[in-house]
Amino acid sequence: MKLIVLDPGHGGQDPGAVFQRLQEKVENLDIAKRVRTYLEKEYEVKVMMTREGDTTVSLEARSNLANSVGADYFCSIHHNAGGGTGFESFRFNGSNDFSSQAMTLQEIVHREVINVVTGKYNRRDRGIKAANFHILRETSMPSVLLEILFLDDTEDRMLIQNESFKEDVSTAIGEGLAKALALPRKVTTNLYKVIAGSFLGRKNADTRLKFLQEKGITAFIATTTLNGAPYYRVQVGAFNDRENAEEIVGQMKILGIEAFILVETTMTPQPTPPTPPTPPAPPNTPMPKGLSIEGTSVLKAEELDAFVKTINPNAPLLGEYYIELGEAYNVRGDVAFAQAIHETNYFRFTGTVKPGQNNYAGIGATGGEVRGATFATPEEGVLAHIQHLYAYANRKPLPTTYSKVDPRFDLVTRGIAPGWINLNGRWAVPGTQYGQLILKIYEKMLEETITVKQVELEKMRDVLVEVRNKH
Ligand SMILES: [Zn+2]
Repeated sequence: MKLIVLDPGHGGQDPGAVFQRLQEKVENLDIAKRVRTYLEKEYEVKVMMTREGDTTVSLEARSNLANSVGADYFCSIHHNAGGGTGFESFRFNGSNDFSSQAMTLQEIVHREVINVVTGKYNRRDRGIKAANFHILRETSMPSVLLEILFLDDTEDRMLIQNESFKEDVSTAIGEGLAKALALPRKVTTNLYKVIAGSFLGRKNADTRLKFLQEKGITAFIATTTLNGAPYYRVQVGAFNDRENAEEIVGQMKILGIEAFILVETTMTPQPTPPTPPTPPAPPNTPMPKGLSIEGTSVLKAEELDAFVKTINPNAPLLGEYYIELGEAYNVRGDVAFAQAIHETNYFRFTGTVKPGQNNYAGIGATGGEVRGATFATPEEGVLAHIQHLYAYANRKPLPTTYSKVDPRFDLVTRGIAPGWINLNGRWAVPGTQYGQLILKIYEKMLEETITVKQVELEKMRDVLVEVRNKH
């Protein structure tokens, strides 16, 4: 980390320039402290001062201090007097190993200060100067001396005593020094942790953890102390974006868990790679994207068949298989049915798979001439479809209720796609919209059902009105 020595000019028995009750030493220290505060807040830097209070410090003591600590830059802060106005800066006018560097740094600092002193406050730029001052000559590192404004000029003095000006000029000096030395800025990094429950007892946390693991969600327990009591937090993820964390909170809500976001702020220097707090182990199971594949069907078998018949009256009646087999594997059978509609174009089989194959999900069909798997009966075809989804959705062993008929079950990276959108690029390659298209059809199916029920509802109302009128 770079080290800057700030040198508030004069002090103690040496007041520096004096005008009426205004003493230069006081103003110098005030500005130096503000510069230090600014630098330490905004940058990765170490700042030292040649004096912290109203003490007498010799010029030798000042240069000796800077030399002994091996400062990277020495900045002396003064105010002027003697019948002028404006700002000026000085570097050593002789030549040494770092005189060219001293000039470059001085120019950078000078420019930053002038932006404020001239740009904002309309005071004069007296120039980038060189002089044979002790603290410039005797410091063994680049150094600069700033003369902020004139104590004995009425307009300058008003600014010297003005709080906003003091802040502005101190910030400008700080910025100038930071730019000159290319100081790394302190950056705050937020880490958004999703906590799916915080418990006083370990047991409850374990129960929650187990529940999540059963759903195929990777979580871990982090312990913390709140008001002296140990708390067990079940963490399901940590993100740099709040949006991602909120998505997980939403997914937790679907599971009936009220998760919350814990924001952890860390200050990190920029050029050195930011060191985010250890992220949780990468989940071996991704979170479902969009709607999960696992779950319960909302639509009924007859509703599935009725929907597809409106488009293709010759479609086979598969609703019952999708609902029943879906239920057996905790897979959303109604959405799987939407997927089958998408794969077979409403069971019109306009692609490479032929109707006789009973292959409703294009299992093993890679396009072109490859027709994919054939199943003995429609029921077996649906079973293979559901089993294939099961392979994608989780990592659990296949239930033994039915025999394994999906020929490609073991070729799936288990649990790689817990949500329908996760199937994009996996079930269909390429298929950036694959899951979306399935959900779109599913949406249509839901809408249709609502419409049917709406019509029934209105009919029912008519019937009731009729019956009532007959009385
Ligand atoms: Zn002075």
